Amino acid sequence: MAEPEFQQAYQEIVSALEESTLFEKKPEYKKVLPIVSVPERIIQFRVTWEDDNGVQQVAPGYRVQYNSSKGPYKGGLRFHPSVNLSILKFLGFEQIFKNALTGLDMGGAKGGLCVDLKTKSDNEIRRICYAFMRELSHHIGQDTDVPAGDIGVGGREIGYLFGAYRSYRNSWEGVLTGKGLNWGGSLIRPEATGYGCVYFTQAMIDYATNGKESFQGKRVAISGSGNVAQFAALKAIELGAIVVSLSDSKGCIISEDGITSEHVAAIAEAKIKFKSLEQIVGEYSAFAENKVKYIAGARPWLNAGAVDIALPCATQNEVSGDEAKGLIASGVKFVSEGSNMGCTAEALQAFETARSSAKSPNEAVWYAVGKAANCGGVACSGLEMAQNSQRRRWSRDDVDQALKKIMVNCFNDCVKAAEEYSNEPNQNTLPSIVKGANIAGFIKVADA
Ligand code: GLU
Repeated sequence: MAEPEFQQAYQEIVSALEESTLFEKKPEYKKVLPIVSVPERIIQFRVTWEDDNGVQQVAPGYRVQYNSSKGPYKGGLRFHPSVNLSILKFLGFEQIFKNALTGLDMGGAKGGLCVDLKTKSDNEIRRICYAFMRELSHHIGQDTDVPAGDIGVGGREIGYLFGAYRSYRNSWEGVLTGKGLNWGGSLIRPEATGYGCVYFTQAMIDYATNGKESFQGKRVAISGSGNVAQFAALKAIELGAIVVSLSDSKGCIISEDGITSEHVAAIAEAKIKFKSLEQIVGEYSAFAENKVKYIAGARPWLNAGAVDIALPCATQNEVSGDEAKGLIASGVKFVSEGSNMGCTAEALQAFETARSSAKSPNEAVWYAVGKAANCGGVACSGLEMAQNSQRRRWSRDDVDQALKKIMVNCFNDCVKAAEEYSNEPNQNTLPSIVKGANIAGFIKVADA
C-alpha cells in the first residue's frame, strides 16, 4: 500500500540524519534507523455502533504502538474521515521523537477511527466512543499505552472513552490523558499544545534577537480554530501580539486590527457544536464590529498580509511550497508548527533555504518542525500521568512553569544537536531546527 504521509515523515528524518555528521562520528547509531522505522505493533479493529435511526454502522479503528523503548506508548487518537494507516503511521513515527524531545520517559504511538463526528449526534458520539474502547481497552493501560486526544477527540470524547475503559476493565487508572479536572485531569493540559508552541517560538525569538525582541507588537498568522489554534492565539494575544488570522477546513478569517480573546472564546464555544467559521462570523456581532472578514475556500498564508510569525495549527501539509514562498516574501521571520507536519516537503525546503542562505541571522527565516514546536501537548500529558501516579494535583502555576521549562529545554536540545552534527557550511546563519529536532530526538531514542 502507498503510504505518502508516512514516507514524507520518514524521509524528513532520514535526510536530517544522513546529511548530518552523526553516522560518521558515531556509526553505531546507523543500525537503529531501520529498527525504529518499523512499528512494534499495529492493532486494527472493527468498530460497530447503532445510529439514531437504529441502523448498524461500522468503521475501521486503529492503534499503532510504534516504539516503547523510552516508556509506555503515548500519543493521541484522531477521529476524522481522513484517518488511514499511512496517516497514523506518520503520526506515530513523529510521536516517538516528539515524546523523546520533551525529556520525559514516554514511547510513541497514535490511533484513531475513520469517522466524521461532525455529522453525528451527541448520543451517537457516545456510542462510537464506547464501541471504540470496547476493543482498544484490551491493548492499553497506565503502564502499557496511554492515549489522549487529537483532531476530533477533545474533552467530551476523552470523557466517554474514559468512562468506557472504567466499565470494561473495572479499573480507575491514568490510562488516558486530557481528562476533566475533577476526574484526574491536569490544569493547563487543554492549553498546553498552543501555549507550548508559543513558548517555543518565544525561545527562537530570544535566541535570534539576543533577547531584544518578543511577541510584543508582532503580527502573527495562525491557521486552524481548534484546541491548538485557540490557545496559541490566546497566549500570543496575552504576550502583546496581533493575531491576524484563524481558519477551518472551509475558509479563513482575517483581521487587520487583530482577532481578540473574545472572538476566540466565541469560536471555542461554537466549535464544540461543529459550527463553521463562516457561521460563527455571521452569528456574533463582535466579528462585524472588529471588521473580521471571512474568505471562503482559502488558507491564511497568502491572505493575511505582512506577518512576522506564522503558526500552522490545523493539520498536516497545510502550507504548500508556494504559500511558504509567499510568507517569506511577506517578511515572515519565524514559523512554528502547532500541527504535526504542517508543512509540505516543498514548504519545508523553502523555509530551510531561506534560513541557510541568509547572510546574517537578521535576514534568516527560522522554521520549527512540529515534533519540537508542538511537544508541549504531550509533555503536559506526561505531567498528567505523573500527577495520576502520585495521586496529587499540581497547581496551574506549577504545570505552566514545568511546561515552559520543557519547551525551552527542547529548543536548547535542538540548537545543540544542530550545532554539533548538522554539517552546514554557512556558519553566519541560525542553526537548523529541522535537523536539530530530528537528530536530538533520534539520539535520545537510539540511546534508550
Ligand atoms: N495528539 C497530541 C500530539 O500530537 C497529544 C498526544 C498526547 O498527549 O498523548 O502530540
